[in-house]
This record gives sequence, structure tokens and C-alpha cells, in this order.
Amino acid sequence: MEFKQLNLIPPLLKAIAETGYTTPTAIQQKAIPVILSGQDLIGCAQTGTGKTAAFALPLLQRLSEKNVHVQGKVMPIRALILTPTRELAIQIGENINLYRKHLKLNYCTIFGGVNQDRQVKEIKKGVDVLVATPGRLLDLMNQKLVFLDKIEVLILDEADNMLDMGFIHDIKKILAKVPEKRQTLFFSATMPPNIRKFAHGILHKPVEVDV
Ligand code: AMP
Repeated sequence: MEFKQLNLIPPLLKAIAETGYTTPTAIQQKAIPVILSGQDLIGCAQTGTGKTAAFALPLLQRLSEKNVHVQGKVMPIRALILTPTRELAIQIGENINLYRKHLKLNYCTIFGGVNQDRQVKEIKKGVDVLVATPGRLLDLMNQKLVFLDKIEVLILDEADNMLDMGFIHDIKKILAKVPEKRQTLFFSATMPPNIRKFAHGILHKPVEVDV
């Protein structure tokens, strides 16, 4: 299969080719059509399978279908990607930066352990996609520096690790501030009963894909 067959738009196909990808991985082949259709998704996939592109490419496509940018106006955050660690957040941000190259969409990565000022300055300019670790995000939300009331797509990456690391309460507080009407994508390497139960509590009729 080729990326072209996945109905991705030319600006994304161009960025994919420039990144050096030639064929979509298994998770990309299965997840991209589901995400483009607007459905919720449970993706059982490990890091290394190409799962970042599996959610980031269709996410950017969906956001670009409705361009809400108004010159001179700071626009609200439209997509939130939650991930357990600073390293993963940075990696996801770097991938998004490659894929969005020919689109007018911006992003910002936030994580704890560093001064928040630069991250806050970035967010205040207006970002379409926010990549965040739960602790720092909640911290900025509590300071009323980040608002999630216009989120259209919510992505939980490495959900099993986030729960193992004790982020459940932070995630629940974050979820309470995200609109109910949204698309939710849930990625986890493992799917034990507690993770599955948590997933079904926040997803609406999800399609499940496994690799
Ligand atoms: P991930 O599972 O998202 O951490 O991706 C693992 C690695 O595979 C990253 O370095 C990606 O840049 C790379 N990658 C993702 N999709 C593809 C693809 N279709 N072809 C080649 N490499 C890819």
C-alpha cells in the first residue's frame, strides 16, 4: 500500500515524502482511515510502530479542512496530545513539525521540569495543536494560562504508561475541561481490563485497531 491510497492531502503527501517515508506502517494503514472518518479510536500499538504518524497525519488533515485562523487574532487550541514523558512530548512535537511543513497549522510542546515562561509565551501566540505532559498542562490550566474549551480532537498517547505513572487524577481533571463533543484517540501498548475500562469511559463507539 502507498500513502496516496490513504486519501491524504497533497501537502501531507509532500511532507511524508520529504521525511523519507515510502510505505505506511501497519498501524498507519489501519488507523488513518478511521481517524479521517472522524470516529473515535483505540489503537493497541507500541512505540516504534509508527504510531505517532498514525495519529498526527490524519489529525493535521482534519484540522486543515477547517481553517479557523483570523489575521491578528489569537485562536484557541484545537487539539491536545497527552503523553507521559518529556522525551515523548518532544519527539511528538518534532514529528508534527515535519508533517505540518506545508500546512498553516502550528503547535507547541509543554512539559515539566523547566521554567514555564517560554512555554506560556508560545501558547499565548495561539497554537492549533498542544503536545503536553499531564502535570505541566494541569499546572498551566490552574493558573488560567491554558484553556481547553475549544478542543476538537483529544489524543492519549501511551495511556498505559500514563496511568502506571500515576497521572490518572491529573488526566481526569484535564478531561473535565475538554468539550464532550470531540474526537478521541486512545493509544496504549497494553490493554489490561483497567485500561480498557478507562478507555471505554472516555471514548464514543471506538473502532479498535491492533498491530
Ligand atoms: P513511532 O512509533 O511513532 O515512535 O515511530 C518510530 C519511527 O518510525 C520514527 O522514527 C518515525 O519517524 C519512523 N516512521 C514512522 N512512520 C514511518 C513510515 N511509514 N516509514 C518509515 N519510517 C516511519
